[in-house]
Amino acid sequence: MESIYWVFTHRCNQYCSHCYNHSRPGAPTITFAEADAVLANLPEPHRLILSGGEPLVERELLLHILRGAQAKYGDKTRLAIQTNGDLLEAATLDELLEAGVQHISIASQDGYHARRDGQRQRLGELLVSRGLREVDVGDPAAAKLRDRTFSFWGATPGLWLGGLWPRGRALRNGIWKRDPDHNFCALWSGALGFLDSGSPRQEVAVQLTQVYPCCPGTVEPLGDVSKEPLLQILDRSRGDPMWEALNKGEPWAMGDDAGIDAAFARKRIQELGSVCLWCDEYFTKYRPQRNGRGNDATQPWAAGERTRTAQVAPLVLTGELADDA
Ligand code: SF4
Ligand code: SF4
Repeated sequence: MESIYWVFTHRCNQYCSHCYNHSRPGAPTITFAEADAVLANLPEPHRLILSGGEPLVERELLLHILRGAQAKYGDKTRLAIQTNGDLLEAATLDELLEAGVQHISIASQDGYHARRDGQRQRLGELLVSRGLREVDVGDPAAAKLRDRTFSFWGATPGLWLGGLWPRGRALRNGIWKRDPDHNFCALWSGALGFLDSGSPRQEVAVQLTQVYPCCPGTVEPLGDVSKEPLLQILDRSRGDPMWEALNKGEPWAMGDDAGIDAAFARKRIQELGSVCLWCDEYFTKYRPQRNGRGNDATQPWAAGERTRTAQVAPLVLTGELADDA
């Protein structure tokens, strides 16, 4: 497997308005035992990225996972962390490097994260002082390097928010890109290739212990990797027309076997403004049709009934999770 992106905690010292994960102080996290169970069920990826939330809020858990990954994979897997950098001090950096971290991604260089003045300079000097070399965040070659590297990036129009994401507080606060023609699903961190073992484009996202084909996350996970091996979860998902369509980066085709034709799906994507909101709508409104009722030709999603699509009410965004009380 090329890459596993593991959000092992939703806890964070920040409360950014654009956070796609509702991360905040006191948000859900996992236990050490759950972390051990997940790690035991992961295959050997070329790259394991540990993220949050803010991983350094859970410093002991992070170090525990890193040491476990180092023991399991040795130098066969490149260990990376993604952090906002706020809590990254010299002693902590030394512990991370000792635990096998090879890349540190500072993902807070934007106007949404509250930052202390001079943070970038401080972090840059600190990382360079320990022998890390700065690389571009989009440099695919950097992921293959065996040396220690770091990158700076953030929620800029060209990156994080460029194609993202009607999720979490970004959705609630309207900080997401309404572009129905932007197919994030077919990009890196989308679902494209998540089933394609051996492919350099394969990445799977794990949120706490739940497995998803993409970073935005589908309404239903593929499975729980604390309870069964990741490869078994992927094997079980192969052959399901919906997951296979997402694996091709074609969310408009995810309802083909349920009789929801691509023209209807494309129209809903235009109305909703995002492929991911269509994906949500399919899971919550149409996917159950596969189990029992089948292709109901009287329903607006059925092929040949496209003229009815105008009667379909826009998706009411009730999916905002009660996280911030
Ligand atoms: S965007 Fe990052 S730093 Fe901000 S609340 Fe979310 S996880 Fe924390
Ligand atoms: S369309 Fe669905 S599977 Fe594709 S990136 Fe969006 S949420 Fe993930």
